Amino acid sequence: MSKITFAIGGVHPDDAKLSRNCAIEVLPLPQTMYVSMAQHLGAPAKPIVAVGDKVKTGQVIAEPGGFISAFVHSPASGTVKSIGPRKDLAGNPVTHIEIAVEGDEWVEGVDLSDTLVTEIPEERQAILDKIKACGVVGLGGATFPTHVKLNPAPGSVAECLILNGAECEPYLTSDFRIMLERTKEIVVGAAIMQKVLGGCRTVIGIEENKPEAIEAMRKAVAELPYKIEVLPLKKKYPQGGEKQLIQAVMHREVGSGGLPISVGAVVQNVATSLAVYEAVQKNKPLITNTLTVTGNCLPVEKQHNYLFRIGIPLSYIAEYAGGVPEGAAKLISGGPMMGRAIANLDAATVKGSSSILYLSEASTKRGQESLCIRCGRCTDACPMGLEPYLLNRLYKAGDVAALEANAAQDCIECGCCLYSCPAYIPLLDRVRQAKGMAMAAIRARAAAAKAAAEAKK
Ligand code: SF4
Ligand code: SF4
Repeated sequence: MSKITFAIGGVHPDDAKLSRNCAIEVLPLPQTMYVSMAQHLGAPAKPIVAVGDKVKTGQVIAEPGGFISAFVHSPASGTVKSIGPRKDLAGNPVTHIEIAVEGDEWVEGVDLSDTLVTEIPEERQAILDKIKACGVVGLGGATFPTHVKLNPAPGSVAECLILNGAECEPYLTSDFRIMLERTKEIVVGAAIMQKVLGGCRTVIGIEENKPEAIEAMRKAVAELPYKIEVLPLKKKYPQGGEKQLIQAVMHREVGSGGLPISVGAVVQNVATSLAVYEAVQKNKPLITNTLTVTGNCLPVEKQHNYLFRIGIPLSYIAEYAGGVPEGAAKLISGGPMMGRAIANLDAATVKGSSSILYLSEASTKRGQESLCIRCGRCTDACPMGLEPYLLNRLYKAGDVAALEANAAQDCIECGCCLYSCPAYIPLLDRVRQAKGMAMAAIRARAAAAKAAAEAKK
């Protein structure tokens, strides 16, 4: 099996896919759900229901708040109990629609059968409209509205659609499970996006540590009438990063500040492909996703992959799975490298929720920070070719111009530098802050230039 990968940097953490053999289970509905208005990149959605309204499963309850935004649908049938601020994962107030669940009565027109629909609609705009109407966003982490990403600006040409099946973060197995259990739907979703993008080369990239998924995808591709390749990828973190996938598959570099489409690439996650299938072929809005409950302080029998309704509180899932295990020192949403600490377990799941990860004290304990010994390991590990030790120094000095000149804005927050540093310097936190400072300067300059141009008109 020939394997490809990106050219520079990367690390090899233990993949710890402890829940890989856990088939997807359907999580039952709780009594109350909280649907966030800010579960996609871009402007928050605007509620279009009122307290006391009766809603059905799949009904639109909020509409896009801007060009880059997404529709939000009710995850169950019931009554709107409240609309207002509720704390998200990080403890920040975000508008949620609270739904008292009374059943699971779906809106009309949704095909809830398991029948595979392989015939793809002819009209490109109708497909895009359906993806938009169903609230599909990127489920690989960025939650960028999919209908926007699949509709490149005039002059941009998609030469290659890359489906990200790398799932390179340790512990996570939800993508792996859907690649095994919803294989053909994912392939049809890829073919739909391929059609929207004008029939470009389409590749499903899967890391070599998932041979069963590679085999299942190859079989599905062989049995379906589309032109799609399945490419095994070397196991190396962060193989699933957009820029790293593009480099591995297309041997092209996305320039500083550039978008994948600037080199002819569109990258979508396998879970997004499944959501596209359900939207276009089944008329089913994005109200479910798959989530892994895992960690090194959980016994094997308490590891799970769940199909959950979006809006179920994380605490309900944790309870259903057996409770927060003793010895869990850290709770993370996402993987251990790029995930976010769960500050509020009562937070509602959102479209992009992918895990509840419990890590033990021993695995999260870091040594005392000491001085940089200039070993260069962070630079060797950085897949973006940055110099994290230097960015750390410039951040501490508050030198925004030098941070920008040294491309802090290109950091993909992968954590490879932190993982590699023998001096236990919290490089990820510092580089994240440094990136924020550089991005703020870039945005401020762009806004000033726009204002000056408008003043001249
Ligand atoms: S977090 Fe940023 S600086 Fe650190 S290795 Fe990743 S891309 Fe490089
Ligand atoms: S890995 Fe740590 S100690 Fe080594 S150069 Fe980078 S910041 Fe310094």
